[in-house]
Amino acid sequence: QRNAQSNNMRFELARVEQRERSGPDDLPQALKEVLDNNALEMRYQPKVDLRSKSVKSVEALVRWPTDHHQSVPTNILIDTAEQFGLIEQLTMQVVNKVFQEAAQWRSKGLQVIVWVNLSARLLGMEQLPKVLARALSVWNLPASTVGLEVTESAFIHDIDHTTALLFDLKRLGFKLSIDDFGTGYSSLAYLRRFPIDELKVDKVFVQGMMDSTQDKQIVQSIISLAHNFGLAVVAEGVEQEANLNALRLMGCDEIQGYYFAHPMPAVELLSWCEKFHRDFHDKL
Ligand code: C2E
Ligand code: MG
Ligand code: MG
Ligand code: MG
Repeated sequence: QRNAQSNNMRFELARVEQRERSGPDDLPQALKEVLDNNALEMRYQPKVDLRSKSVKSVEALVRWPTDHHQSVPTNILIDTAEQFGLIEQLTMQVVNKVFQEAAQWRSKGLQVIVWVNLSARLLGMEQLPKVLARALSVWNLPASTVGLEVTESAFIHDIDHTTALLFDLKRLGFKLSIDDFGTGYSSLAYLRRFPIDELKVDKVFVQGMMDSTQDKQIVQSIISLAHNFGLAVVAEGVEQEANLNALRLMGCDEIQGYYFAHPMPAVELLSWCEKFHRDFHDKL
């Protein structure tokens, strides 16, 4: 019995020590376990439409499980999944959670479009349109209520394949957005080539524009460019009212950032949106 007790103590000590370290020693293995336990969590951040002063959509952002003894930042989580061949499994898990939660909030009367981030690497996945279509039918969700955010880096490899894939996704009814626009290898050619609906200005420029004339000119150029091509523009990373007002004057369509809301669990969305329409509507 004494042996069992000291074993327990040793086990406890090891756990405390592990908790005090910065992240899992073997991150790929820890991620594999999290994925196998279907334990990833989703948060949702509203995109506020300035013209209608309403929330028409939200972006889904993945999180390492909160009850896990350690935490891992999302960008590291995604990098690890990409490097260790786990990105397909991660995306399937994300998509199923998001569609399930979106179906739930729609059944409660919340009609917002949900945007999912797709890793550039995933665009090489042959089955992607089929898999997404199947997930839609499992959760009984119309494709028109789902958007896909992809970064420019997705476009630098095999342009013909990417074009075909994006058209497949568009044909299925998904909305498409180019995330972090301006930070990658921007090629204006794909603005006329790809069936996209929206450009997202990266927060580097959005936050930089308050101090830097150059960043401000970049933001203004992206907004004009998008509008000339009939696309909507979203600014991410808006934290201050002054930033919001500057973007509004520049004609930006939608705003996302801590100024309005941090990413939140699905269960908080409905009441947040109700409160937003009460409190923010007059201030905007
Ligand atoms: P992203 O898609 O460009 O998302 C914007 C990031 O900025 C998010 O970080 C968000 O939480 C953060 N953010 C939002 N508002 C503000 C603000 O006002 N100020 C600041 N400083 N930050 C703000 P997060 O959630 O850590 O995600 C990082 C990146 O990881 C995302 O960048 C996206 O590329 C990727 N990612 C997130 N979720 C997923 C996912 O489910 N699948 C894939 N493949 N990638 C994901
Ligand atoms: Mg995004
Ligand atoms: Mg972004
Ligand atoms: Mg970004």
